[in-house]
Amino acid sequence: MTPFLRLIASLMIALGAAQAAHACMTAPVEETGDRVAGVPVITGLDAARLPQGRHDFYFRAGWRNTGEPIHVPVVVVRGAQPGKTLLLTAAVHGDELNGIAVLHRLLEGLNAETLSGTVVAVPGLNQPGINANNRRFPVSSGGGALVDLNRNFPGTDEVGGSTSGRYIGALWGGLLRPNADFAVDIHTQTRGAAYPLFVFADFGNAKARAAAHMLGPDMIKNDAGQQGTLETSLMKEGIPAVTLEVGAPKQFQPELIDRAVWGIMNLMRHEGLLAGDAEAPPVKAIVGSNYTNIYADRGGIAVLHVGLKDVVTKGQKVATLYDAFGHVIRTYKAPHNGWVLAISTDPVREAGSMLLRILQ
Ligand SMILES: [Zn+2]
Repeated sequence: MTPFLRLIASLMIALGAAQAAHACMTAPVEETGDRVAGVPVITGLDAARLPQGRHDFYFRAGWRNTGEPIHVPVVVVRGAQPGKTLLLTAAVHGDELNGIAVLHRLLEGLNAETLSGTVVAVPGLNQPGINANNRRFPVSSGGGALVDLNRNFPGTDEVGGSTSGRYIGALWGGLLRPNADFAVDIHTQTRGAAYPLFVFADFGNAKARAAAHMLGPDMIKNDAGQQGTLETSLMKEGIPAVTLEVGAPKQFQPELIDRAVWGIMNLMRHEGLLAGDAEAPPVKAIVGSNYTNIYADRGGIAVLHVGLKDVVTKGQKVATLYDAFGHVIRTYKAPHNGWVLAISTDPVREAGSMLLRILQ
């Protein structure tokens, strides 16, 4: 080898070593260099590698059609001891707000000194939906549309993908998927309806099943999940995940929020993030694997004869629908034995809208 070639070879070795060193030193966050209201903006996160303590970020999940970025709030609490990473998300449906209070309350009470592992909390996943006072994500292309983000996970990173698909894809790839050993996605019933404290979980996964019980809900539905939801997309990646339904939308319900905070902390004890043993929940959950919706088969004013969590028997009268004059249009009976899982809270019912949901 000539001196010149030796020089080239040694330079290439040095360059390779420098690149390897750089790879090892990649930061736990990809910062854009921007700050919004004093909060650093990121496009990537490896939460478990952050230093101990609480870290607030805005995650840049896309761009508005006027050119400004869309920012999603993220809080990481990195514990003093190593452990699992728990991903907690709220308000992927923009009018389902109880979960925001659940995460704020939980974060308020967490102490990094006594935490083993990492909590990654996203208290408001669908920021455009929250701003628009809507369950769905507003897009302007094609004359405007509203998209249910929780039917479109894991989204896309293709340049030609839709705004909503790319928003989800950015969150999935940079924030959610890489920062979860297990996950709880917090929802409520939709507008005009209410749940108790309720969990969707796939009991085919033992960890998801255990998580459902540790959360201490009134009711659990065991099912295989739904394509396009965050829960099911995480499960497909081998990450145990459940969907926690906390009551009704567009309000804060203190009792249910307290119970959800207790449930998540109980799950954290079960998974070793908090010291102490998980406790048996104060409420014994009713578990079912099917539910039936009773729909208003024409529009009218609905009066329900049962409430949340009530036991119903097949043939029991559960609702009456009246016309504008107060005449009875129809009465509705329970199609099978079960428990009232969801109720309509808005008595004015369009044809095809849900009156009741009965778990069995
Ligand atoms: Zn929801």
